[in-house]
Amino acid sequence: MVNYRYLGNSGFKVSEITYGNWVTHASQVDDSAAIATVHKALDLGITTFDTADTYANTAAEVVLGKALDGQPRESLEIFTKVYWPIGRKGPNDVGLSRKHIFDGIHGSLKRLNVDYVDLYQAHRYDYETPIEETMQAFADIVRQGKALYIGVSEWTAEQLREGHALAKELGVQLVSNQPQYSALWRVIEGTVVPTSQALGISQIVWSPMAQGVLSGKYLPGQPVPAGSRATDDKSGANFIKRFMEDDVLTAVQKLTPIAAEAGLSMPQLAIAWVLQNPNVAAALVGASRPEQLEDNVKASGVVLDADTMAAIDAALSPVAVTDPQETYKVSPAARPA
Ligand code: NDP
Repeated sequence: MVNYRYLGNSGFKVSEITYGNWVTHASQVDDSAAIATVHKALDLGITTFDTADTYANTAAEVVLGKALDGQPRESLEIFTKVYWPIGRKGPNDVGLSRKHIFDGIHGSLKRLNVDYVDLYQAHRYDYETPIEETMQAFADIVRQGKALYIGVSEWTAEQLREGHALAKELGVQLVSNQPQYSALWRVIEGTVVPTSQALGISQIVWSPMAQGVLSGKYLPGQPVPAGSRATDDKSGANFIKRFMEDDVLTAVQKLTPIAAEAGLSMPQLAIAWVLQNPNVAAALVGASRPEQLEDNVKASGVVLDADTMAAIDAALSPVAVTDPQETYKVSPAARPA
């Protein structure tokens, strides 16, 4: 089964392996595979699920809602997000204005078919809305019981500090940040993690397996496996391409003996690696089919010894991205149209 961790300084626990449905549900995989994978997650002890209004332009929330239909609400932790443009893409259908945040939560609750979400997250920082307006809107949504906790995604250390202070002033909890983090993408270690630790904010980390690359299934100079994300023309292939370089794929192959020595599969090693960081509350994994989750959940509770961690560092250090400045490039300077 899967272990639980507290989210930030709150009393709220999440399954340390959380299942997310970006680029898979209502896109790469059909609804029956999506629903079967959610049911497998539940069977394996994953109770925390992450989605966003923008995934498959709102359709991913509908699939997740259907898959969770009939489950006792109190036994689930459901997360969604707001920021990116959806729907009619009018001038107010984007960003973190009070208007878009309220439209966003109402749409998400309808599509997910729930009365509340456990965590409502700012999917990026909005440089066009005063942060006071954003935090006030989130606080009002919490007071209305439509969301229980507030989180953000890919905020910088300074933005986290400011958001956290405002949330505190408003009497609500900003408990989490959702950044990309894997043994290949370590940019949060420099400033985001130390700042978050000081504030009592957890990381819920996305793409812990670098979108499947750290499973070792993509071999340098070889055709990509049929049906994998790298073949998904709808959107997956475009997102994974940042890691599909021969030097990266060659370095990843060096993990094969390290995983074997640790008695783990490559996906388990990748997920266990992010969970060694105590500021990480959950590894937010994706899966295109149920069998992948059977493999991946075995990373829960694994302790990697110092020699294993050092061997991973040595294998990946020439290609791992560590520059904290990368976080500053993630939120768009102007809202996307
Ligand atoms: P991962 O790094 O876990 O990649 C998941 C993909 O890897 C799967 O869809 C599958 O792709 C492949 N895979 C999974 N398990 C295995 C296995 N055992 N063996 C071989 N291949 C495997 O995470 P994602 O990139 O999917 O991101 C996870 C979640 O993070 C998202 O669903 C979303 O909730 C969140 N996210 C948040 C973002 C943000 O801005 N806040 C941005 C992106 C993601 P396949 O079978 O197709 O090859």
